[in-house]
Amino acid sequence: MTDASTTVLPAALANVDPAQVVLLLDCDGVLAPIVDDPAAAAVPEPVLALVRRAVDECALVAVVTGRNVERAREMVPVDGVWLAGMHGMHVVAPDGTEFLDEVAVAAREHVAVAAQLAQTVGWAYEDKDLTVTIHFRQRGALGQDVDAEHVKAQLMTVLNPLKVEVQHAKQVLEIRPKGSKTKADGVRIVADSVSGIESKVVVYVGDDLTDLDAFHGLDELHARGIRTVKIAVGGSEAPEALVAAANHVLERESDVPIFLAALLGN
Ligand SMILES: [Mg+2]
Repeated sequence: MTDASTTVLPAALANVDPAQVVLLLDCDGVLAPIVDDPAAAAVPEPVLALVRRAVDECALVAVVTGRNVERAREMVPVDGVWLAGMHGMHVVAPDGTEFLDEVAVAAREHVAVAAQLAQTVGWAYEDKDLTVTIHFRQRGALGQDVDAEHVKAQLMTVLNPLKVEVQHAKQVLEIRPKGSKTKADGVRIVADSVSGIESKVVVYVGDDLTDLDAFHGLDELHARGIRTVKIAVGGSEAPEALVAAANHVLERESDVPIFLAALLGN
């Protein structure tokens, strides 16, 4: 017998008690459907309800996102959730304990140059303090004929390549401090807080290129003998490298709540 819930739950999690699961979730494209205006992205209430249940039933739940922690908290207003924002540069535990990437803080003024250029030229951008994101999904301000490579070339005329790097992900360019923390560090910081992590199963669900960093974080845990499950959300925009590196693929965003419900035993 197969139904939707059994096909989305990887075999490695089929008989696992949620209390043994460390559940790490990307936000956009996983909990929140991708929309044209990133400022309008929201996590649907039924998904939030599942996250609340997961906090009650799992060993730990974390949202690991490129958004800053403040925005992540607005999108996932659930007590007890760890928030790893700006790709792991700023991590906040449920008790308020903070982990801030000093390398990224020191490079803040260099990253800010990208926001200044974006504002001057009229690109759609988001200043997240330690990183800046240039958005391409809304073409209005940018024009159809301007592509990411063109924008990246313009950015590199004003950015200091010793201090800043530009990363190309789904319909965005991320301008981030060079040598700053990644989602791999976010995964490590969160996992290190779990007592008895050796007996847990660390699960990560992501949909974009930066989630490959998170997968590398899981690989490091796996090398320490910890069970891990890397899950990619597929679809037409899913990076091939992420899908290739995953242990399990959910076909589409809407499979995520079905997966969560199956993991929690409906
Ligand atoms: Mg995402």
